[in-house]
Amino acid sequence: MTQSENAAPRGGSRTPLVELSGVSKNYGNVRALEGVSLEVYAGDVTCVLGDNGAGKSTLIKIIAGLHQHDGGTLALGGEETRLSSPREALDRGIATVYQDLAVVPLMPVWRNFFLGSEPRKGRGPFRRMDVEHMRRTTHAELLRMGIDLRDVDQPIGTLSGGERQCVAIARAVHFGAKVLVLDEPTAALGVKQSGVVLKYVAAARDQGLGVVLITHNPHHAYLVGDRFVLLKRGTMTGAYTREGITLDELTGQMAGGNELDDLRHELRRR
Ligand code: ADP
Repeated sequence: MTQSENAAPRGGSRTPLVELSGVSKNYGNVRALEGVSLEVYAGDVTCVLGDNGAGKSTLIKIIAGLHQHDGGTLALGGEETRLSSPREALDRGIATVYQDLAVVPLMPVWRNFFLGSEPRKGRGPFRRMDVEHMRRTTHAELLRMGIDLRDVDQPIGTLSGGERQCVAIARAVHFGAKVLVLDEPTAALGVKQSGVVLKYVAAARDQGLGVVLITHNPHHAYLVGDRFVLLKRGTMTGAYTREGITLDELTGQMAGGNELDDLRHELRRR
C-alpha cells in the first residue's frame, strides 16, 4: 500500500481544480479538522471517507464557501484563495449537492431544475418565465446524463431519492460547474438506487468535472474513486490513489482495522 504522497499523481503535472494543504478548522475549542490535504482534478473523483464526527461536513463547508479555514491553504486552479460565501464558490465553479437537497417537493421537476436562475422572455409588463424553454432544457439535460424522465411536469417530490440526486447533479453540470461536491449522496439509498446515483457521478466525471464524493461506504467509493482521503476525528489517517490501495484494504481501514480485532476479542463468549 503506498500513500499518495509517495506516488506519482495520476495525470502527471496537471493543476488541481481544488487543492487543500494542511487545512485546519476550529469551532471554539473544538478542533474539527487538522492538517487535511486533498486534490481534486478535472475528470477525477476524489472520495473523502470517514465515520460520524470525522470532519467530512466541515471539509465540505470549507470547499463550498460556507465556512473559512483557520490554518493551511485552499487553492483553486493553482491560485491560493479564501471563499467568503457559497455564492462566491458557485461563481468559481464549485457546486455542492447536499444530502437534504434544497428542492421544493410540490414544484415540477423543471421548476426545481431552474430554481433561482429562471430564464425570462418578453419585455416590460409582458416579461415572464420562459416555461417552454425550461421544460425542454430540463428534459434534454437529464437525457444527456442518461435520465429519461417521461414527464418533467411531475412534482419533484414524486421522484425517488436517487432520481432527485441525479436531477441535482444534472443541474450542476448544466449551470457550468467545474467541481461537484456530493455530500453522502448514497447514504439514505438502497443498493439499486445507489448504483443509479454512482452512474451519474461517473457521467459527471466523464464530462470533465472534478468530483468530491463524501461517503462512509468504501464499496461505493471504490466503484468510482480515483483518490481516497480517510478522515478520523478531524485528522487524515490516509491518502491513496486508486493504484495504491485495494478495496479490501480500504474496507479494512474504514472498519477500524485493529480496533475491530480488539472488539472481536472483547465480544467473544467467555
Ligand atoms: P462529519 O460530517 O464527518 O460527521 P463534522 O464535520 O460534522 O463531521 O464534525 C467534526 C467535529 O466538529 C465533530 O466533533 C463535531 O462535533 C464538531 N463540529 C461540527 N460543527 C460544529 C459547530 N458548528 N460547532 C461546534 N462543533 C462542531
